Amino acid sequence: MNTQTALPAHPYFAQALLEWYPRHRRDLPWRHTRDPYAIWLSEVILQQTRVKQGLPYYLDFVTTYPTVHDLAAAPEEEVLRHWQGLGYYSRARNMHHTAQQVVREYGGQFPNNYAELLKLRGVGQYTAAAIASFAFGEKVAVLDGNVFRVLSRVFGITADIAAPASRKEFQLLANQLIPAEAPDEFNQAVMEFGAIQCTPVNPDCLFCPLQRECYAFQHGMVNQLPVKTKAKASRTRYFHYLVLRHGDTVYMRRRGPKDIWHGLYDFALTETETPELSALEVLDTLEALGGQVATNRAEEPVQALRHVLSHQKVEARFHSIWLEAPLPASVITTSGLAPYTASQTEELPKPIMIANYINNRLNKN
Ligand code: SF4
Repeated sequence: MNTQTALPAHPYFAQALLEWYPRHRRDLPWRHTRDPYAIWLSEVILQQTRVKQGLPYYLDFVTTYPTVHDLAAAPEEEVLRHWQGLGYYSRARNMHHTAQQVVREYGGQFPNNYAELLKLRGVGQYTAAAIASFAFGEKVAVLDGNVFRVLSRVFGITADIAAPASRKEFQLLANQLIPAEAPDEFNQAVMEFGAIQCTPVNPDCLFCPLQRECYAFQHGMVNQLPVKTKAKASRTRYFHYLVLRHGDTVYMRRRGPKDIWHGLYDFALTETETPELSALEVLDTLEALGGQVATNRAEEPVQALRHVLSHQKVEARFHSIWLEAPLPASVITTSGLAPYTASQTEELPKPIMIANYINNRLNKN
């Protein structure tokens, strides 16, 4: 079915959702504000995670950085530390840069329209539409995963929602559906409807106000829509961390660009094609750090942890190694490793896997 044949359902769609929304919406803090900064924060965080997990992060950010000026002035490492656990750390860095851009180029005031918001770093069509609509009441339709699903099912759209070309078709339809009155409420309603009624699995079709008009329901296609091609199979990477320790300190370093976790801290690392790293390879890796590194205690049992990212899995093994003496200055210079006490490691921004290792193993020893 194409969208043209479904057009007569338009007035009912907006009406049904605007009636449904006040009775079912969740009470969330970012729904009580028109502050574009707070709305932007909530949207950036919710792109990473579900509402339940994202809520404490949102509250932490608005408390720690009540204004865009506060966030802009914060050190990047501190921002990454507050973001820790959400993943996609490039989003946190973009968020920080955007805050600085808003302060520098817009005097600390977020642009008040969709077109101008799009010029901000890391602000794509979805986020720009959300801010323009929720903060400024602009009539611009938002499209997120929930909206794609609802539109696909109700209007029987079979275009692949993972294909960038499909966006145009959905956007066209969404623009036709959004009413001139209360466009912000309409956007919230569609997203919320997708989140709690027309869910990916087991949607509540029985008590759905759109049941009669819903193409998927009427044609027994609820489980087939939306069409979404599978993402590429993810690859597995094997990380071997050499957790070098001396006295009360552990050696860590800041990760560089061009790979995951840029700007976060981990340990000396060697990556291999297979899960194992022999004792000899451990010695080779120590040597490769750039100088003589003497150890005075047998390695402790290797700890293995796994972390799943969007396109890759990281299987990490932690080889705890006690040093006879502090690392020489030459090694510190070439490797970027530096000694940290237990309390200092707490303060560093880290991938969640490293944070777990430190909490569960390192700082317990
Ligand atoms: S009838 Fe089912 S599939 Fe159709 S909109 Fe309602 S909940 Fe979604």
